[in-house]
Amino acid sequence: MISEKIEKAIIQQIKEEENASRIYLAMASWCDTHGYPGAAAFFYRQTQEERFHALKFIQYLNERGGHAHILDLPNPENKFENLKQIFEITLEHEKFVTACINSLYELAQKEKDFATLTWLNWFIEEQMEEEATVGAILDKFALIGTDKGGFFMLDKELQALAAEPVGE
Ligand code: MG
Repeated sequence: MISEKIEKAIIQQIKEEENASRIYLAMASWCDTHGYPGAAAFFYRQTQEERFHALKFIQYLNERGGHAHILDLPNPENKFENLKQIFEITLEHEKFVTACINSLYELAQKEKDFATLTWLNWFIEEQMEEEATVGAILDKFALIGTDKGGFFMLDKELQALAAEPVGE
């Protein structure tokens, strides 16, 4: 049986993963309507990835004898200045999610919940990857500057990244 404190923290994390999913869904829709089909595919994949994370937490909590409650979500932002800003927001958001996962890990240490600690390792690695991927994309924006052809090439690269299977 999972402790009440961990249950509460996981329920909050489910909300964060669902929230991230909706933030990326709004971004995908913006890209889709602003001439970036590759970036749209990238964020349509991201929204599924975050949904997968939420489901992973829900199923884990229920399996451990808890009850995953589904909470209200804030309205996502639908207006963006440009594609670069979208990736800047994404990196900041991923850093926030990393901090949430780290706090959850810290709580599991305090509660001596070794099963949850082990289980959270997957998310710790996942967050490292997410931050590295988005960071590398932002480096490319720095190289491109205002070159239109560069944006076209970057969009193609994002399309290729979107082909990776969700949840791996
Ligand atoms: Mg996530």
